[in-house]
Amino acid sequence: MFPKPQDKHRESWGFSISTTLAALQAFSDNNAIATWRSFSIRRQSGDVMRLILLGPPGSGKGTQAKLLCQRLGLCHFSTGDILREAVRNGTSAGCKAQTIMAAGQLVPDDIVNEIVAGRFRNHDRPERFVMDGYPRTLAQALAFDDVLKSQSLDLTAVVSLVLDDAEVVRRLGGRWSCPKPTCMATYHMVTKPPKKPGICDECQTPLVQREDDREETIRNRLAVFHGQNDGLANHYRGQGLLREIAGHGDIEDVYAKIIEVIASKRGQDL
Ligand code: ADP
Ligand code: ADP
Ligand code: ZN
Repeated sequence: MFPKPQDKHRESWGFSISTTLAALQAFSDNNAIATWRSFSIRRQSGDVMRLILLGPPGSGKGTQAKLLCQRLGLCHFSTGDILREAVRNGTSAGCKAQTIMAAGQLVPDDIVNEIVAGRFRNHDRPERFVMDGYPRTLAQALAFDDVLKSQSLDLTAVVSLVLDDAEVVRRLGGRWSCPKPTCMATYHMVTKPPKKPGICDECQTPLVQREDDREETIRNRLAVFHGQNDGLANHYRGQGLLREIAGHGDIEDVYAKIIEVIASKRGQDL
């Protein structure tokens, strides 16, 4: 029903098209209240919304970021997707990142920071966005603060999805992704299966399992996450931006909780 979340032109959509789509979606979803709420938040906010999603691998950052893009018209910024594309294209950043990503370690801050800063320096920089997988270290958060400051952009909220390690392993073990760069939809064998087994609902491309979604690599990624997360969370807590929510529950319930915290955060800012 909607164009792909990564479509950078999404940002330039007129208010009326995207809000009408959000309104139509409200009537077709099980969780109509949350979706309707997205619609009214978007209307009240004058379309300006800048979010960061934090959380362990598999906590649902990508899934929720895609919904926020579809329903709030935000630009989805996933450093993981950008890096995987760089690896596929064999760019110099991709060559440096490939083995690091396969091992579940973090790509060096300077490479990732430059990818993000470069995108924000562009004339078509994102104005309303949801960051998925960046920042991941305190050094990245500080670098991103500088980027936002230089562009006079304020963050709306930093939402941290909290999920225990056992559930992370269950989720990532069943994750299947669409490899098509303009799509990148994600599925789960049990909780979000595609309509046709192994085929993307959106673009009919055969789905793949990510190389780093093997159990041993998942454990490395979790260890990396736990080593970085407190510093990152404290940074945004100190800025009064952090909101923590449980990542458990079905996808629409988690979405409703995100919308709830954004709405209450905005209420406090008024
Ligand atoms: P992340 O971007 O944080 O790594 P994803 O959004 O890719 O996480 O989700 C990881 C896997 O879990 C995917 O297979 C996705 O379909 C599934 N998933 C996401 N959110 C939920 C949820 N609330 N309940 C059950 N499964 C979920
Ligand atoms: P997930 O949310 O499931 O961990 P991502 O797609 O966000 O997956 O990231 C996949 C991999 O890409 C990470 O394990 C890491 O190697 C690399 N990566 C993504 N974003 C960053 C980042 N901000 N800093 C360093 N490495 C990153
Ligand atoms: Zn697809």
